[in-house]
Amino acid sequence: MSLIIREIKAKSILTKSGIPGVDYCVNPYVGCSHGCRYCYATFMKRYTGHTEPWGGFVDVKINAPEILQRQLKRARNGRVMISSVTDAYQQIESKYKLTRQCLEILLQNQSPVDILTKSPLVLRDMDIIKKFKDIEVGITITTNDEEIRKVFEPNAPSIIARMRTLKTLHDNRIKTYAFIGPALPMNPETLSEKINTHVDSIIIDRMNYTSKTLKIYERMNLSKWLDKDFIDDIIQRLKNGFAGKPVSIC
Ligand code: SF4
Repeated sequence: MSLIIREIKAKSILTKSGIPGVDYCVNPYVGCSHGCRYCYATFMKRYTGHTEPWGGFVDVKINAPEILQRQLKRARNGRVMISSVTDAYQQIESKYKLTRQCLEILLQNQSPVDILTKSPLVLRDMDIIKKFKDIEVGITITTNDEEIRKVFEPNAPSIIARMRTLKTLHDNRIKTYAFIGPALPMNPETLSEKINTHVDSIIIDRMNYTSKTLKIYERMNLSKWLDKDFIDDIIQRLKNGFAGKPVSIC
């Protein structure tokens, strides 16, 4: 699928958040080229008038740093999440560097920051990340099975690339967490064993958007992975694999 890229000017970039423990979200892009089949952020299409398939367009908020700078002057200090309805380190960020510029501004403001991404590109900004007093970087890893990853997250970085990213962050003494959400078909013992030493904490979430993915589960004969008791058992096995570390279940 070819990617349609459009440069836009945003009116606001620092938006209030309803996510527990997060005061604001910063999303430098609209849309996400990772194109995850379960993505909850597809509702953004309704607000922005896009008719292209999710994963096929990205709007670039080229004035994001300037607007952020202005909004931070008026805003109460609070925890900022990068990002909530896009991946701020999707491929196009390597060209536009908007996330990097926003991070620099948040650093000047001494804002506490939480980054959540699937992309190793976050390592490019290690120099800035290391300077924050309060920052946490989460890497989303939803399965240990690369074939499953390719089906549900077709254009996102590989699992091994994400695991290496977590390790590098952790080796550089950055506080890290793994976001295992949505928990896709996996071997929970293998996944926890491979990332346990690279994370300080873990967040696990279920597949909440079954209407988007039901046909995939059925086609692949994986419907048991949508059964509540079955997935509860998988989550317990994941928790056992991270024994001694804080595990939150969404
Ligand atoms: S990386 Fe996140 S925002 Fe991007 S498509 Fe996947 S779930 Fe959606």
